[in-house]
Amino acid sequence: MKHAAKLVLPLLITASGSALAQDSLAPHVHGEALLQVVLDGQELVVNLNSPAFNLLGFERAPETDEEQALVENLDTNMRDPQFWLELPSAANCALSRVSLGQHVETTKQGELHEHEHEHEHEHEDDQKILSEHRDLAFEYHFLCADPDQLDQAQVKLFKHFPALTGLHAEIIGDSQSLQELNAANPVLRMP
Ligand SMILES: [Zn+2]
Repeated sequence: MKHAAKLVLPLLITASGSALAQDSLAPHVHGEALLQVVLDGQELVVNLNSPAFNLLGFERAPETDEEQALVENLDTNMRDPQFWLELPSAANCALSRVSLGQHVETTKQGELHEHEHEHEHEHEDDQKILSEHRDLAFEYHFLCADPDQLDQAQVKLFKHFPALTGLHAEIIGDSQSLQELNAANPVLRMP
């Protein structure tokens, strides 16, 4: 892959533009995550978006010391892409930037009963949070000395995070491809 295709899916336009991938690009489905890989010249951008459930086992803010430690441990591990992604060493890729972000969706009591109490005014502060969903986003920028050697990559997420069962991968380079990865098929092919 030498050059990124000029035309990319609208979904992917922000892949290399945003410092923090805060917008959830994939439907929030526990057990599944989205991986986007964009190669443009020597720059390789890798975006991983996953429900926090897959990586932590919970999605609300950490409440106990144990949960806080899990969050910090995840943060430390994921800042090093080699923790979960093995690029061909011949491509000679050096990490130039890492961004971590998150997106939280909450459902409050008032919202569920909106249709039943149309004339009632409730203050948001009074509304009890019924459910909370959190997506975590990880963005990595690499500079690869020999990008022609980027023919495949090993994804080790399934080994670290058993709650993750499926990864939808989108690869943008000379051409575009969609691949479905899982524990039995963890190798990303880069055309
Ligand atoms: Zn969720």
